[in-house]
Amino acid sequence: MVPDQAFPVAAPSPTPSPGLTKNLERAAHYLDRLRGTTIRHLIGGRLDEGSGRTFDNLDPVDNSVLCRVAAGDARDIDRAARAATDAFPAWRAVSGERRREILHAIADRIEARADELAFVESVDSGQPIRFVSKATMRSAENFRFFADRAPGAADGLSLPTQTHVNYTMRVPIGPVGIITPWNAPFMLSTWKIAPALAAGCTVVHKPAEWSPLTAMLLGEIMNETITAAGLPPGVVNVVHGLGEEAGKALTEHPAIKAIGFVGDSITGSHIMAQGADTLKRVHFELGGKNPVIVFDDADLERALDAVVFMIYSLNGERCTSSSRALIQRSIYETFTEAIAARVARLRVGHPLDPATEIGPLIHPRHVEKVLGYAAVARAEGATVRCGGRRANDDGGNMVAPTLYTNAGPQMRISQEEIFGPALTAIPFTDESEALLIANDVRYGLTAYVWTRDVGRAHRVAQGLDVGMVWVNSENVRHLPTPFGGVKASGIGRDGGDYSFDFYMETKNICVALDTHHVPRMGVERTPDQGK
Ligand code: NAD
Repeated sequence: MVPDQAFPVAAPSPTPSPGLTKNLERAAHYLDRLRGTTIRHLIGGRLDEGSGRTFDNLDPVDNSVLCRVAAGDARDIDRAARAATDAFPAWRAVSGERRREILHAIADRIEARADELAFVESVDSGQPIRFVSKATMRSAENFRFFADRAPGAADGLSLPTQTHVNYTMRVPIGPVGIITPWNAPFMLSTWKIAPALAAGCTVVHKPAEWSPLTAMLLGEIMNETITAAGLPPGVVNVVHGLGEEAGKALTEHPAIKAIGFVGDSITGSHIMAQGADTLKRVHFELGGKNPVIVFDDADLERALDAVVFMIYSLNGERCTSSSRALIQRSIYETFTEAIAARVARLRVGHPLDPATEIGPLIHPRHVEKVLGYAAVARAEGATVRCGGRRANDDGGNMVAPTLYTNAGPQMRISQEEIFGPALTAIPFTDESEALLIANDVRYGLTAYVWTRDVGRAHRVAQGLDVGMVWVNSENVRHLPTPFGGVKASGIGRDGGDYSFDFYMETKNICVALDTHHVPRMGVERTPDQGK
């Protein structure tokens, strides 16, 4: 057994690593400049504070105030929607080839500032710098990938008959609203905004209130690049604010044709209702309670690596995290023991320490939610095998990585999205029981299957009610493939041309050849008419 107290925790450690010392010095300079400032909206190419109302943005390390953020309201959203509407004719008229150049130029600027962006993202979100740096490069790739698809975005079909030539083309839907969550804020913003711009849409972005800093920098980077190319300001706009105020106003605005949303499933329901009056098109990437199913014939060393990585990396604040481990009974004890031993060695610490594997959670309210599940687990009869408590007693947001064992599939820890470094391990007997348990939740985002039996791998993958399955792998994202969930995990798909299905309308154009005779009215009947 690995005792609860075995976690080596550092926040900050008494002898900081050279990497952390360097980053803390840098942070001190950055925070000196940041504290006391207000993060402003970017509307029509100008930074402004809107109504002047603000809210606090907290440092996840110690919950001190990092800066203030403009609290956008319906008037700010209206100004941004108008700016996006005004810029739309010019942006949609830009050729796909030119859009490709502009989006690559945005990627160049992201790469040139990658170090700074990763640093700010880590400071703002508490996610360890080692993971955030990789995600920042992925953000540049998102722009490059959709840049290269821009010239073909309008492509359609040619459908000729003897009398007509029909052809289809895709046209951008118009100004769109993008609403993003606080986890992986930079990467997720680029994942949504890059295809919208490639398609020819203009954008109003409403970032999450708990991690707004890199959204502001991204807005500036995009706006500088687009206006430097001679296009009007207003192609991209950023309005900060609370979900129930700025977010709601965006979903209700009549000029906004569609909402691309990433966030909680319940918020998705609200957005659907809010957008009903204006018949909004919606695309939802929502929550998950993703199973990783480990059969006893799997390569257990690799499976262990994947199980640990997919729940404890990025602080477990990750929609695709495998938060339910379904483990075959014959290996349940040994495998959970192996997870516990690995968990005991995870390095919890300052997010700017290159050695840190788990940083502080985003916000004290989120810590309360995540830790609340330890009491729930105990009350339900599960075992809190590791963690279930803060990682130290500094009152901050560091949570010890948690493993719940002896869990039943219907317990709340097995059904609800905890969204932190907490894994629920559930035993199963055979393939059919594994499938029953895996599917018996409201969510259906991802699943992971570990087995060496090829037939079983396909059967289980096909039987899982989820949008994406990885077999003998952690989550690997190949950008042309579809990304999205079923049930309460989402509506629609992103990635490749799937993104264009959302941001574009298919138009059918029908051209008659002169062999076609139009039916005549109001003329005299000819002898062969009316038979
Ligand atoms: P959230 O739903 O609370 O907030 C997301 C965004 O919606 C924020 O910008 C917020 O201000 C805004 N919002 C809140 N209420 C709104 C309303 N009534 N109208 C319009 N906008 C509103 O989610 P969160 O806590 O920021 O993020 C965590 C959730 O996001 C988790 O459930 C996670 O699984 C999910 N997520 C899903 C994916 C995916 O790809 N499926 C990716 C990342 C995160």
